[in-house]
Amino acid sequence: MRQRHKPWADDFIQEHKDIFITNAADSKLDWTAVFGNSNPVHLEIGTGKGQFITGMARQYPHVNFVGIELAKSIIVSAGQKVIEAEQANVRLVLGDAAGISRLFDKDEVAAIYLNFSDPWPKNRHEKRRLTYHAFLEQYENILSGGGELVLKTDNSGLFAYSLVSFSQYGMTLKNVSLDLHAENDLTNVPTEYEQKFAAKGQPIYRCKAVFQG
Ligand code: SAM
Repeated sequence: MRQRHKPWADDFIQEHKDIFITNAADSKLDWTAVFGNSNPVHLEIGTGKGQFITGMARQYPHVNFVGIELAKSIIVSAGQKVIEAEQANVRLVLGDAAGISRLFDKDEVAAIYLNFSDPWPKNRHEKRRLTYHAFLEQYENILSGGGELVLKTDNSGLFAYSLVSFSQYGMTLKNVSLDLHAENDLTNVPTEYEQKFAAKGQPIYRCKAVFQG
């Protein structure tokens, strides 16, 4: 995702401490206290500009959504959407998913979304793919029993790699789609990338995977 320097980003994040979490790596958070309720927590990794997480938060008001995003100049756009939508059930973590299991207790997350994750096509970058087995180990730790890992992408290479990675890890694959938009799933909330690629006529791949209990 293209990053533009936003000199106001630091101030914006400081002014909206109710939405942004910047010290997540320091200590484990009490998410019930953060949200003020004990609703289930869903996590989106690589939130980008926030269209998906705000749409999901609107569609599922009794679910708490946490988005983690590496890029400060991008996460502030997500923050603007959350504020405009007055969405109380979203928090945004500025940070790297490489440390995701430090943010949550075991079994604390009910679903994880990987939307249009960077494909890292070169073999030497395999460890950076968000479906590499070291990431799956972390997801398994924080996902509650039966919790779904949901992947959407336009990238056939990442999709094929991820299906193999899930299978080799012993996960059960559910709802594999090679053309999600042909299914007219009215509950699907499109991301920014999804809209862009779908508008060009590219198929959107989707898979839900579950860890063995
Ligand atoms: N999910 C959005 C969408 O579908 O429109 C954005 C997709 S963009 C291709 C991938 C996003 O993931 C970028 O904003 C990038 O900064 C973020 N990202 C990549 N690696 C990450 C990581 N390890 N931890 C957190 N965010 C990451």
